[in-house]
Amino acid sequence: MRVVVVGTGVAGLSLVMQLVDDHEVIMLEANEDIGGTWLPRQCYHNLETHGCRAAFQLPWGDAEERDPLEHVHHTELFQALDRWAAEKSLREKMRFHTRVTGLRTVPGGVEVLAEGQPPLRADVVLYTGTTANPLVPEFKGSFDGLILPAMQVHTQVFERIVEQKLKVLVLGGSKAAQDQVWNFMKAGYADGITWVFRKAYWGTNFNYTRDKYMWGSEVGLQARLRLVLFCVRYYQDTHFIGYESLLTRLCMLVLKWSKYLICPFPDGLKLGHFHGGIFEPGRIEQMRSLRHVQGAEIAQLSGRTATLTTGEVVEADVIICATGAKNQKVPVSGEASFVPHELADDEVYRGLIVPRAPRVVFMNALTLGNILKDARRVGAWLRNCYLPTLASAGEEATRALLEHGLAEQNAEAGAVRSRHFDLWHSFDRPVPWMFHVNRELDSESRSGVLTTAPKNVVPTLDALRAWVYRQFVYPVKAGLYLLFADRSVKAA
Ligand SMILES: Cc1cc2nc3c(=O)[nH]c(=O)nc-3n(C[C@H](O)[C@H](O)[C@H](O)COP(=O)(O)OP(=O)(O)OC[C@H]3O[C@@H](n4cnc5c(N)ncnc54)[C@H](O)[C@@H]3O)c2cc1C
Repeated sequence: MRVVVVGTGVAGLSLVMQLVDDHEVIMLEANEDIGGTWLPRQCYHNLETHGCRAAFQLPWGDAEERDPLEHVHHTELFQALDRWAAEKSLREKMRFHTRVTGLRTVPGGVEVLAEGQPPLRADVVLYTGTTANPLVPEFKGSFDGLILPAMQVHTQVFERIVEQKLKVLVLGGSKAAQDQVWNFMKAGYADGITWVFRKAYWGTNFNYTRDKYMWGSEVGLQARLRLVLFCVRYYQDTHFIGYESLLTRLCMLVLKWSKYLICPFPDGLKLGHFHGGIFEPGRIEQMRSLRHVQGAEIAQLSGRTATLTTGEVVEADVIICATGAKNQKVPVSGEASFVPHELADDEVYRGLIVPRAPRVVFMNALTLGNILKDARRVGAWLRNCYLPTLASAGEEATRALLEHGLAEQNAEAGAVRSRHFDLWHSFDRPVPWMFHVNRELDSESRSGVLTTAPKNVVPTLDALRAWVYRQFVYPVKAGLYLLFADRSVKAA
């Protein structure tokens, strides 16, 4: 089949690695090179991963000699992606400077529309280019200085700020905000910075994780980090399955008491404010000494001052907005016309198919580790199950199977109903399907029929049993799975 992949970021590359041996693959990329978020030209000054090298399964080159616990600088991550692309000669299959503007469903396929190019016919399109559009709030009033999204604080800009001793207001509490603040502190420019954020985020305590769990094994650390993040995700992500799980809450509280989870600004400790970063307590101690205002937003700008919602007035020449990103959207036209991302901009999804356009698959995830893991699974599923089904059973039958799977997902999700068949939802839960994907789909003998959704382990009509399942059974099962099944994830 001809598979067209939009985007050559981590998600696009991970997916393609699974497919390139069996299918004709064409990758379209708006930039001049691979990497997406990690393309060096795009990165802000000193961008590093907020997880250590050991947590990401990428070809790290001379990594044997490097500390597996180091955070990875963006240049090194880019090199790893580059090596990865070279392994399967992926560059030969890429078309750079090609921004996809829309997808058109046509009988038996999809046409990919790109600026200044004739439509490109595909059997299936995997759309991964969804992240990294910086979101800058609209402020009241006018500002004489410079307003920059964090993504644009490249090294030159950063150096100019420090050299000219410009006053900086960093807005936001995310990982990017912390990076900005930390960079200025490292450059000895803490005095010029005021950090304003709404919520104090939590993260995992890197030192604690390392000391307690590393045991000299990458997998040990990784599996346990996953368990924590998994629990947190389950708490946080109420969209899918009721993450107000008592067990997850309990788990988080225990992790908090044990200092596994920490918060840069402890006054703000609230379960709902978790951000999946990995924090170093030493760094956090230093960051606390910086001038900061928490629980605040910018209410009004005037000249070179920002009045905050707390009433404080901050002088600034530059406002750096680390205020999140918007999903990019391209419309799907033709018989199945829709704007693919019917979810709100800030909702994250990892793999979606809209049943009425079964030849278009969307892939996205919030973090690197998840993308690497999920894309492998989604890729394995596509290769072994979905694409053969589409080829042999045809579009109508596949659509019917998807509808069926969607109905099962919706039934399981209770009140939450979606119009998308959600691959991520299927892979991560219920647990039996996770096993299914990791163990069975990967065997080449299974070339046959798409079985749609997992066998639904939640009796959908029995609300009480479903509640017990969600609150207790599933978190325990999935937790055990994550602890003990790491090898099979690796193999997949
Ligand atoms: C500043 C920043 C820091 C981050 N730090 C971390 C971190 O430390 N750890 C972590 O786990 N995660 C981090 N993330 C999350 C990040 O989203 C992932 O690390 C990952 O890079 C996302 O990969 P992706 O392939 O989904 O998207 P991207 O990296 O955004 O790649 C998408 C690609 O698609 C292309 N594209 C988009 N639209 C089109 C189109 N219409 N036509 C053609 N091409 C298109 C883009 O040019 C881009 O190359 C960070 C994100 C940002 C923005």
